[in-house]
Amino acid sequence: MGRIFLEHLGGQRLFSCIGCDTVLTNRSELVSTRFTGATGRAFLFNKVVNLTYSEVQDRVMLTGRHMVRDVSCKKCDTKLGWVYEFATEETQRYKEGRVILERALVTETDGIVEHAVKD
Ligand SMILES: [Zn+2]
Repeated sequence: MGRIFLEHLGGQRLFSCIGCDTVLTNRSELVSTRFTGATGRAFLFNKVVNLTYSEVQDRVMLTGRHMVRDVSCKKCDTKLGWVYEFATEETQRYKEGRVILERALVTETDGIVEHAVKD
C-alpha cells in the first residue's frame, strides 16, 4: 500500500481524530453541536476530510429514516461517526452530505498560527 494522503483544512479551531491526531475539520465547518451519537454528544459538520466510508446503511433515527455511511479515520481506522447520504423526511434534508463526529472520539485544539520568528 502507498502512503496515505491526508488533507488539511486549516482554520483556528481544529477537530482531530482521538486515535492519531489527524486533523479532520475545523470550527468554521461546524453546523450544530446538538446531536447525539452512540457515545453521547455529537457534532454536525459541513465538511470533514481524511475519512473512509462504509457501505450505505438504512437507519431509523429519532428524526426519521436516513441512509447513512459510517465514517472512520483514514489513518488509524477509528470509527468516528457517520455521514448522511439521504433523509426521507423533508425537514431533515439539510443533513444530506453532512458528517456527524462523536464528541468523545475527536479532540478539539487551537490551530497553529504561524508567525515569522526573528532571533
Ligand atoms: Zn485516526
